Amino acid sequence: MVEIGAFMIKPELMNILACPACKSSLRQEEEKLVCSKCMRKFPIRNGIPILLLSETEGDERP
Ligand SMILES: [Zn+2]
Repeated sequence: MVEIGAFMIKPELMNILACPACKSSLRQEEEKLVCSKCMRKFPIRNGIPILLLSETEGDERP
């Protein structure tokens, strides 16, 4: 099984990233960013975190 190596986001960048939903800090889990508060998950594509509510994987919708 070939996996694209987990991309590590620079700490400087992590410091300025925040969850678009609740503005809490994010942590990286493999190729996703996970909000520490609302647990939304945001994909990282080509090394770019996609911090869009429409891209979340956790199902927060009713
Ligand atoms: Zn959040």
